[in-house]
Amino acid sequence: MSDHDSAEVIVVGSYVQDHAWFTERFPEIGETRLANRFNTGPGGKGFNQAVACARQGAATLFVGSLGNDHLGAVAQQFAHDEHLECRWQVHEDVATAASSIIVDAEGRNQIVFNPGANAHLDPAFVAAQDAAFAKAHILLLQLENNMAATTAALECATRHGLIRVLNPAPLHERFDVALLAQCDVITPNETEFALLLQRCTGNPVRAADLASHSDADLHALARKIEVDTAVITLGAHGCFVSHANDVLRKDDAAFYRVAAENVKSVDSTGAGDAFNGALVAAMLRFADLPFIDAVRHANRTAALSTEKVGTAPIMPTFDEVRARFGD
Ligand code: ADP
Repeated sequence: MSDHDSAEVIVVGSYVQDHAWFTERFPEIGETRLANRFNTGPGGKGFNQAVACARQGAATLFVGSLGNDHLGAVAQQFAHDEHLECRWQVHEDVATAASSIIVDAEGRNQIVFNPGANAHLDPAFVAAQDAAFAKAHILLLQLENNMAATTAALECATRHGLIRVLNPAPLHERFDVALLAQCDVITPNETEFALLLQRCTGNPVRAADLASHSDADLHALARKIEVDTAVITLGAHGCFVSHANDVLRKDDAAFYRVAAENVKSVDSTGAGDAFNGALVAAMLRFADLPFIDAVRHANRTAALSTEKVGTAPIMPTFDEVRARFGD
């Protein structure tokens, strides 16, 4: 795609440069340890989802924020090589977001993270993309930016009649549940769904128990969050869809489960991002088909993404998903 203003999907979100060190055990306080392996790459939920969406064939525009520094240049080079159209707000006085991840021999991790420029995405910069919003069909959002920027994106999308998809991750205190009224689809994982329920109803729910609830129970719980469609991702248990009765999106049923695909999973980091990017791309590609077709495609893309280590660089393409699972 060469023209920003012809994007079908707009992702407003975060960029984070991940740095991962793999070592036998975590260092003690004051200790320096050798890492067996080091890996760095682009990440951030927003950017991962934009890459996943573009690789599924949707014309995608990413709107995000960087510092005017080395990691910012790395981000822009990756997006350029990926042919991913971006509008970056580049700050002179704030650093590009970065994370430091230490993984021990048992696969446990310790993470330190600096939200950097993501917290400084200016709502006016988002609103200035109005011409792109006017031509797009879907907005995809997460919660790794400041809420003013997220709110501005929802307002632009609402004004132009886009389908508004919110991946409420990570669900933090600054998120005002009143914003859910401006969302058409939410895609929480189990933890985020439990937190959202608690915030919306005041009642605690155990995230770990959710996958074992009956479908009717899950649907009743999902309906307590007033969004037309909830797609709850359940990790290795696949996902669950719940629609409001008057918005079935061409599905036969108001609620159903889609089982996880059987894959040789080695790393599920970023599986949710693969799912979200692929879901919105498939909502466009399969716009004339029932919603379940888009969900199945997202479920397949996310499963395939777990067969490789990493996030943005390993997002599967549409052809790879088709080759692996067929139509
Ligand atoms: P998040 O990464 O946001 O926590 P989940 O862990 O729920 O998200 O995973 C998102 C999706 O990735 C799941 O709904 C499923 O489609 C897929 N997935 C995750 N883990 C596996 C797995 N082990 N096998 C197959 N699919 C998986």
